[in-house]
Amino acid sequence: MSAPSSASTLKELSRLKAPFSLPKLPYSSSSLEPVVDQVTMETHHGKHHQAYVTKANEALAADSSSVNLGEMLKTISSRSMALRNNAGGHWNHSFFWLVLTPDKSRQKMPSRLQKQIENAFGSFEKMKDQLEAAGTGLFGSGWVWLIRNANGDLAITTTINQDNPLMDVVSVKGQPVFAIDVWEHAYYLKYQNRRAEYLKQIWSIVDWTRVDQFDQEALKNRKIIP
Ligand code: MN
Repeated sequence: MSAPSSASTLKELSRLKAPFSLPKLPYSSSSLEPVVDQVTMETHHGKHHQAYVTKANEALAADSSSVNLGEMLKTISSRSMALRNNAGGHWNHSFFWLVLTPDKSRQKMPSRLQKQIENAFGSFEKMKDQLEAAGTGLFGSGWVWLIRNANGDLAITTTINQDNPLMDVVSVKGQPVFAIDVWEHAYYLKYQNRRAEYLKQIWSIVDWTRVDQFDQEALKNRKIIP
């Protein structure tokens, strides 16, 4: 069986193999308007994500190992900075497109996930506040994450550049369940310097059905937690 070229589960994302390719967006580039405008979406996916794919493949051309993307991230400390940035960028964006949706029915919060969030944070509002504060407080470019940490608890963390919680180089490791890209390229055309406003608006396009799926997968398959 050949490795998948696109993925919609954590396991499939982990099993992606080089040469990597740009996954199709699971919706049209205008369909997340007005929260994310079409030009931002086209540039973000077609130019930025494509560049991570291209550069990850270039960085791997001299690498004879054929490990999958998940293994690569788990051992990223032993690899080049170019691979760390670009394989990270490929995983992060492939994941990010999946946790957004224009589909109203998928934007409804499943009761199982709602309870998990309430247990961990007190309320959904408190979780959002913490995630927004973490994203606003992150200096420079990076990501804010909702993860299942090594204890299996829901937690919020941030990473710089294109690092992610699967990498052995980050201090807080875990299995990503949800993420927001807080690089300026994700919001600058529409929100300019107003990152906090972008973070407030994005809640209305979250695919909670998918986040619930990722959370159940993270809980079930603890092996994929580094
Ligand atoms: Mn990005």
